[in-house]
Amino acid sequence: MPKVPFQAALEALLGPLRFAAADDFARIDRVRDLEATVAQAASRVAAMEIPDEAREAARAVAGRFAAPLAGDARREAVREALATLAPFAAPDYPDQALARSVATLPGVGPKRAQMLSRRGLGRLLDLLFHLPTRYEDRRVLQPIGALQVGTRATFVGEVLLADHITTHGRGRGGRLFQAVLADGTGTVNLKWFRGGDAIAKAVRKGVRLRASGEVRRYRFDKEVIHPEIDVLGDEDAEAGGEGLVPVYTAPEGVPPRTFRRWIATAVARHADLVADMLPASLVAARKLPSAADAVREVHAPAPGAEPVAYQAHESRAHERLVLEELYLLELGLALRHAEGEKVPAIEVSFGDAVQRSVRTLPFALTGAQQRVWGEIARDLGRGHPMSRLLQGDVGSGKTVIAALGAVAVAEAGCQAAMMAPTELLAEQHARTLRTLLSGVPEVRIALLTASVAKPEAQEIRAGLASGDIDLVVGTHALVQDDVAFARLALVVIDEQHRFGVLQRQALAAKAPGDTLPHTLVMTATPIPRSLALTLYGDLDVSVIDELPPGRTPVRTALLRSGEGRQVLDAVKATLAEGGQVYVVYPLVEESEKVDLRAASDQAEAIARALPGTPVDLVHGRLDAAERRAAMSRFERGETGILVSTTVIEVGVDVPNATLMVIEHAERFGLAQLHQLRGRVGRGARPGTCLMVARGGSEDSEARLRAMLATTDGFAIADADLEIRGPGDFLGTRQHGKLPDLRFADLVRDTRLVALAREAARETVRRDPGLRTDSELARAVRVRWCDRLALVGVG
Ligand code: ADP
Ligand code: MG
Repeated sequence: MPKVPFQAALEALLGPLRFAAADDFARIDRVRDLEATVAQAASRVAAMEIPDEAREAARAVAGRFAAPLAGDARREAVREALATLAPFAAPDYPDQALARSVATLPGVGPKRAQMLSRRGLGRLLDLLFHLPTRYEDRRVLQPIGALQVGTRATFVGEVLLADHITTHGRGRGGRLFQAVLADGTGTVNLKWFRGGDAIAKAVRKGVRLRASGEVRRYRFDKEVIHPEIDVLGDEDAEAGGEGLVPVYTAPEGVPPRTFRRWIATAVARHADLVADMLPASLVAARKLPSAADAVREVHAPAPGAEPVAYQAHESRAHERLVLEELYLLELGLALRHAEGEKVPAIEVSFGDAVQRSVRTLPFALTGAQQRVWGEIARDLGRGHPMSRLLQGDVGSGKTVIAALGAVAVAEAGCQAAMMAPTELLAEQHARTLRTLLSGVPEVRIALLTASVAKPEAQEIRAGLASGDIDLVVGTHALVQDDVAFARLALVVIDEQHRFGVLQRQALAAKAPGDTLPHTLVMTATPIPRSLALTLYGDLDVSVIDELPPGRTPVRTALLRSGEGRQVLDAVKATLAEGGQVYVVYPLVEESEKVDLRAASDQAEAIARALPGTPVDLVHGRLDAAERRAAMSRFERGETGILVSTTVIEVGVDVPNATLMVIEHAERFGLAQLHQLRGRVGRGARPGTCLMVARGGSEDSEARLRAMLATTDGFAIADADLEIRGPGDFLGTRQHGKLPDLRFADLVRDTRLVALAREAARETVRRDPGLRTDSELARAVRVRWCDRLALVGVG
């Protein structure tokens, strides 16, 4: 699990901070080198492969502690750092008794407790909730003579011979302990390269053993290295197997059997403290065990347990734990949603401006667009902030919906801001919006990015502050401190996965007084349903599930290196029909120069091969003016081919472009590939996407297969989630919003997410604010408060 090192590093950072803050800073001046320690630990966290939000937070802390502090400033810095880091700290558990150290368990001394703690297993609850990764089916004892090389097996036999032996050759040689086990059908060698002395005390000639492990071949014999063994006494004469035995990822250096014993002890002594949170009706309907029993059962399945369900983590016991977890999460989200209802927002009243602009659009809205607009209009008219996620596949027409929102807000005398992830996209949005809204010239539109000239930018900022500008389109330049709005009422965020939560909040803070702006988050990368329900549980979701009429799915083909001829043929054919072509290169930072050279070489090669065809090259190193010029040449149809690094990745709209060539397709993520493909087939003529793969991994092959299999963005999103797993999926995109789930797997447990959400919504309907169930309220608060930025729960 890649999360563990991060959590461990974070704990190393939080430790001294918490210590300093404890008991109202009683010991703050006793921490040696507090500043240096914190700054160092924070830099270490910041250097890790973590979501940008977390990195930003760690950097901020490192900066704050870069110089010595004293007195109040020192206390304030500690307070601030703890608050900054809180969203990323490991979730806690409401029951204090379970938060006690594992050092309270017999057999776990302070030293081992420390080692466990470093691995995120320092508390009793960490052991209770450390689920087996799989189960070993030891019910069937195998005759030793029938052991199969390459399989895991459990068998019983008598020790014929047991001795330390010294090996030579094969490298260094060394000393190992070996026992030969026999049962009348055959013999097998058991070998220990480590810990042989201790083993030798128990494993003597004549003793009966039950052993399990992976059977291997060694010369003419079968052997098992470091088997798990039980010495059988007389009472075990008829010893059968042990049933389903849990297998854990044990910390390095802890023998599996020892680790299993620790967990078994923790379960036997403390499982009864695991509280039930799920509504009784749900428990009854699904015939679930109590949470405490569920913990007992996942660690020690009953003799009659169904192995398949356990292996798949789909037993009743697993289900109970997953539902318990998801229910609390969904409660937190439901409560956060309810909190939004208490905050005031500007109530937008509608005149005829929206109608007028719809009438002057160059097309009629699709049914899906009309429905979605209805949902948004209803939200804008209420006195509470809209929090809505607008999902729609590439090309489904989200921009016009945002434009209508801006028109409504402008007519009501307020302002709208639209934030795009790249300058190029912001520029294009501004142009598109000006065209779409030409029927309502009273809506004044401005563009604000880092490359807008200084005097002009100043003018725009003045216009925003005075209210002269109704709609501003921009990049992160919009969240800068020097940008103030007269009456900001609507924030639209396009392609939200590029923005951190912090930036979104910074923009929200620019709304007047104690109001929050209405927020519309638009994403063209569909989010799998299970993720939408968890991550965006506090957002209402609108889906444009219909493409504008006349679109045909983009034809997709995969070429390997060496098939460049076909690319050139396709380019020629497209140009001959009057279409235009994108050729996209990945731009990996470490090898930026190399990739750039590849892209410009290609541009030249194409220009040579197709004399007379205007070719342009667009990349991140060009300054804004050059880039804009090249883009508008392409938009006007003056260039036939646009060779580009990924700057056109998101949102570019040139309906006459019908061929997309993706070079080094294996280097792109699935969402990116889908985005790129969405750049063609936007007009009446069908589009083609050629992916050229030049090597790659198993994962990249899986991505390319998914691209060939479907053009449906939702299916792509599901495939993406499956290939990458939810952690990565969220980690790289949903900056900092990754909820730490112990039990639930968002791929496996989609169904349970929906179930938990339903139950949570029902609970909040019956008891808004959870005022009658303080224990439940506390559990939600402790578990999710920080992470969901819940304010007044319980
Ligand atoms: P996306 O959802 O990917 O942001 P856009 O808003 O860029 O999609 O729209 C894609 C293209 O479809 C644009 O050229 C836009 O003008 C066009 N479009 C949007 N809605 C309709 C419609 N109802 N009928 C026809 N074309 C439409
Ligand atoms: Mg778009």
